[in-house]
Amino acid sequence: MSTYDQIEIEDMTFDVETRLFTYPCPCGDRFEVYIDDMFDGENIAVCPSCSLMIEVIFEKEDLQEYYEEAGTQPPEPIAVAA
Ligand SMILES: [Zn+2]
Repeated sequence: MSTYDQIEIEDMTFDVETRLFTYPCPCGDRFEVYIDDMFDGENIAVCPSCSLMIEVIFEKEDLQEYYEEAGTQPPEPIAVAA
């Protein structure tokens, strides 16, 4: 499987309502990946219209602030590497 591009998590848009990270796809739709899936280790966002994929560059610790932004907590505490 090859991915279209690699995108830093900071460059994606996080929607606190849907808890989706999105990024514009060249087809006009958006790549999408749920924060909970990323918490589980998913790092691929898929465009539902054209099935292109991007790889999201992030550390699990990065998700903490987005969970807080959404007014919620991670499914389990994130262990921050010492
Ligand atoms: Zn697309």
